[in-house]
Amino acid sequence: MALERTLSIIKPDAVAKNVVGEIYSRFEKAGLKIAASKMKHLSRREAEGFYAVHRERPFFNALVEFMISGPVVVQVLEGENAVLKHRDILGATNPKDAAPGTIRADFADSIDANAAHGSDSVENANIEIAYFFPATDVYAR
Ligand code: UDP
Repeated sequence: MALERTLSIIKPDAVAKNVVGEIYSRFEKAGLKIAASKMKHLSRREAEGFYAVHRERPFFNALVEFMISGPVVVQVLEGENAVLKHRDILGATNPKDAAPGTIRADFADSIDANAAHGSDSVENANIEIAYFFPATDVYAR
């Protein structure tokens, strides 16, 4: 087992549904500790930069519009196997495929508005954490 950090975003749809606390509770119950946290309304440039890897995908423009449609809550989660554990709690990208009891099964309406983001590897987690938080704003837990 490895102590890892991962980047997590509660997307505008879930913030609008007022389930931020419920989602944080799920992280904590799974043994993931909040090492950094902030609410932020992304600029178009920030959203495009964050999802740059998807720039050529047909859903890119809609994804950016969605991500800037309201504030998000961004956090760094720390724990054993945090990257995979967080992805498991989120469930599949498309809520129709997400296992019962996962965040996307419970709170997401569609593959476009799917409640939350989670880094998919330790390497990407490090890049994504640095995108949102200076190292001095991430607290070892
Ligand atoms: N997305 C979308 N339509 C698609 C596939 C993805 O709108 O057909 C969005 C969705 O919000 C997803 C994000 O693009 O969370 C990034 O896609 P990825 O395949 O990386 O999924 P994730 O890692 O978020 O589960």
